Amino acid sequence: MELSGGFQDECGVFGVCDSQDAANIAYLGLYALQHRGQESAGIATLEDDHIYIEREMGYVADVFDEARLSRLPGRTAIGHVRYSTAGASLLINAQPIVFATGRGPLALAHNGNLVNARQIRADLERSGALFTTTSDSEVILHLVARSKEPTLTRAIADALLTVRGAYSLLILSTEGIFAVRDPNGIRPLSLGIREGSPVVASESCAFDLIGAKFERDVEPGEIVKLSREGFTSHRFAFPQHTPCIFEHVYFSRPDSLVFGRSVAATREAFGARLAREYPAQADVVVPVPDSGLYAALGYARESGIPFGLGLVRNHYVGRTFIEPKQAIRHFGVKVKLNPVREVVEGKRIVLVDDSIIRGTTSKKIVGMLREAGSREVHVRVSSPPTTASCHYGIDTPTRRELIASTQSVEDIRKFIEADSLGYLSAEGMLQAFGRPQQSTCTACFTGIYPVEVPEEEREKEGAVAKC
Ligand code: AMP
Repeated sequence: MELSGGFQDECGVFGVCDSQDAANIAYLGLYALQHRGQESAGIATLEDDHIYIEREMGYVADVFDEARLSRLPGRTAIGHVRYSTAGASLLINAQPIVFATGRGPLALAHNGNLVNARQIRADLERSGALFTTTSDSEVILHLVARSKEPTLTRAIADALLTVRGAYSLLILSTEGIFAVRDPNGIRPLSLGIREGSPVVASESCAFDLIGAKFERDVEPGEIVKLSREGFTSHRFAFPQHTPCIFEHVYFSRPDSLVFGRSVAATREAFGARLAREYPAQADVVVPVPDSGLYAALGYARESGIPFGLGLVRNHYVGRTFIEPKQAIRHFGVKVKLNPVREVVEGKRIVLVDDSIIRGTTSKKIVGMLREAGSREVHVRVSSPPTTASCHYGIDTPTRRELIASTQSVEDIRKFIEADSLGYLSAEGMLQAFGRPQQSTCTACFTGIYPVEVPEEEREKEGAVAKC
C-alpha cells in the first residue's frame, strides 16, 4: 500500500473526558470543526475498557444520526474530521484509528503531517509490523505499542522521539485522553472545561458551541492527560514554537482563538497593513466571501474606502452538481459566487481575498465583476505570494501548480486580468501577526521549513493533485 505521507490531510480533532453524552458532545464539537475537513468523520468512545468506533466518508451531519451515536456508549470520546487528496481518500484512512496493544486499546486522531512517516513505516514493516491504513498517523500507534517504557505517558513521549513533522494528536486510552502537540506547535490544540469535564479541540470555536470555557493551549512539546482528575501535564521535548501562519490567513475559523490570538482580529490587521502597503484609488472594497471578509474590513477601515458586499456566496453548494450541457462562462465559480450588480456597477473595486493559489478563482471573479459593470478591479491579497507546498498538513497543490512559484506579480496580474495587484509583504504579515520569522511557520510563502523535510518527500510533491 502506498503511504499517504506525501499527501496532505487537513483535519480537525475533538475530545471530551468523563462526561455524560460524550459521543453527542463529540458530534457537536466536530460539527463546529467541519471546515477543517469535509471528507470523513469519526468518533471513538471508551466504556469498560472497550473502544467503540463509528466512522464514515461524508460530512459530520450526514455520517452521524441518533442511531449511530447511540452505538457509542461511554463517558469519554475523541473525534476527527478529515480532508485528504484524491489518492488517499479511502474509508480505511478515516480516523480515529483503533489499535489493540499490550496497554489496552488505543484510538488515535491526528491533525498535521509527519515528514518522516514513510521511512519509519518501512523500518517497522521490515520488523514485522502490519499496517491497516495508508495514513502517516498509524506509525505513532505502532511506536507507542512497541515502547518498553512503563507508563503510557512515557511510552507516548518515547514514540514521539522518533517522529518529525506537525502533529496535534489525541490518543484515547483506558486512562483518559492524551492530548499532544509537536515541539514546533505547528497546528493548534486547545483545552477547555465543560461542566467540570475536560475537553480538547483543534479550535476554540468548538468550545463555544458546546458551552465550554477555554482554558489554555496545549503547549508545543507537551503531553496533557485529560482524566477525571482534570489536566496532568508532561513535557516531552524542548519547545521551538513556530505556529502555522496560514491557520490565521485562511484555514481556521474567524471566531476561534488560535495560538492565543483572535483569527478575525489577525485578518483585519493583515487587511489594514495591506491598505498601507498597497493603497488604491477606488470606490468600494469588496471581499471574496468568506475567506476575504475580515481582511477586506481591515482594508476598508484603514483606507477610508467604503466596504461593500459586492459578491454573494451560495452556502449550499454540495460536493457534486450536474454540470451544464452547454458552456456557461465562469460556471464553476458562479455556482459559489455571484456579483451584486447594484454594489459593483460603474464602480472602481478593490477586491480582497486571503490568498491566490492557482489563480483560477481570482481570474474568474475579476471577469464576473467586469461583466457586472465594474469600471476597474484592483486585486489585493492579504498574504504574500504562495510559492511553496505545505508539508505539515495544509492541502496546497504541488509547487509547480502554484502560480506564484513560476510567475511574477505582474505576470499574475495579467493572467487574472486585474487593473492592479498587490500582495501583503512577508514582513508586513509577520508584523501584523506579532511574531518574528524565526518563530513562525511561513513555509508556503517563504519556502523556509522549520522542521526539515527530507529530500524524498519534497520530490514527491509532483505526484498528486489536490482539492
Ligand atoms: P485558486 O483559484 O487556486 O487561486 O484558489 C484561491 C482560493 O482558494 C482563495 O479564495 C483561497 O481562499 C482558497 N484557498 C486557499 N487555500 C486553500 C486550501 N488549502 N483549500 C481550499 N481552498 C483554499
